[in-house]
Amino acid sequence: MSKQPELLDLVIIGAAAAGSTAAIYAARRNLNFVVVSKDIGGEVALSGEVENWPGIIHTTGFELAQDFHKHAKSYDVQIDEGFGVAEIKQEKNYHIVLAENSIGKKKEYQTKSVIIASGIHPRKLSIQGENELKGKGVTYCTVCDGPLFKGKTTATIGAGNSAVESTLMMAGIASKVYLVTKYPDTKETKGGLPKAEDILVKKLKSLDNVEIIYNANITEIVGDNFVSGFKYEDNDSKEIKELPIDGVMVHIGMIPNSNFVECAEKNNAKEIKIDFICQTSCPGIFAAGDVTNIPYKQISIATGQGATAALSVINYLNRWEPES
Ligand SMILES: Cc1cc2nc3c(=O)[nH]c(=O)nc-3n(C[C@H](O)[C@H](O)[C@H](O)COP(=O)(O)OP(=O)(O)OC[C@H]3O[C@@H](n4cnc5c(N)ncnc54)[C@H](O)[C@@H]3O)c2cc1C
Repeated sequence: MSKQPELLDLVIIGAAAAGSTAAIYAARRNLNFVVVSKDIGGEVALSGEVENWPGIIHTTGFELAQDFHKHAKSYDVQIDEGFGVAEIKQEKNYHIVLAENSIGKKKEYQTKSVIIASGIHPRKLSIQGENELKGKGVTYCTVCDGPLFKGKTTATIGAGNSAVESTLMMAGIASKVYLVTKYPDTKETKGGLPKAEDILVKKLKSLDNVEIIYNANITEIVGDNFVSGFKYEDNDSKEIKELPIDGVMVHIGMIPNSNFVECAEKNNAKEIKIDFICQTSCPGIFAAGDVTNIPYKQISIATGQGATAALSVINYLNRWEPES
């Protein structure tokens, strides 16, 4: 194990929107810190077309992620890329961060503070065609990619608020939208959408270009270079049906990358709970971006939180005292 015995001011976990922004702020305040990240760019790099980053009318997530990285590197920031954090151990007034890469090389960092900016990953359908057509008609972010399907036919998969909101949004963009729920249309399942808010469901059911497919188990996304349809099994008749579509919005939940976090309190969804200055319940541990319990998962919000977390760390370090 290669050990870094020095006590760092800060370890930043993640090198995308929140982590890179925190790194830029930390570097400009001359903190002694390291960024540890599984990859550079995270979900930002996978965000496809980006048209809501203020100041730039159109860019891609890949380009934006590269720009964030370039900006951080311009301050000579140390980024230990390829290392996944497996554990954060609490010591008296500092933390030990343990990380490992894909070939089993381990690193250990001792640090006064930590910013967790490890993001989330979408829950997958795990069916044929999903991975192959990701970014080619399959998306996990309707807010981001929905406008690309203007005048087309799409299907949103899911039964919660996120799926209903995706369908509502697509109803205003696409010509025809299917909402595919695994639940039957019964009173017990609140009309097939048990986890969605009534007011949203009412609105949805009033729309002419929306069709809800109940009791359906999606089995395959079809397409050669781009999505052209999907197959599903009717849970009652067990019949396999196929419908032609241009895009699939998967909204069956997001999973925060927070498994390695024990000390800081999390909510039921495993998001790290933070206050308005990005402090967690654990002294010296801060969190920023999609991994937190802030409801809106967007690049501009994650960068803002990265900046907030770094400034809060500086405040924390100003009051930090070595053990006597
Ligand atoms: C398809 C798609 C399109 C999108 N389009 C847009 C858009 O157009 N506009 C917009 O504003 N938002 C968009 N989003 C949302 C946006 O991508 C996120 O809000 C943003 O990426 C959050 O940034 P983050 O830094 O919090 O996390 P992430 O981007 O998820 O980055 C997390 C980082 O942490 C690292 N990491 C994770 N676990 C560990 C670990 N254990 N140890 C070390 N490192 C770890 C990862 O490697 C990564 O570098 C889109 C999302 C998706 C999926």
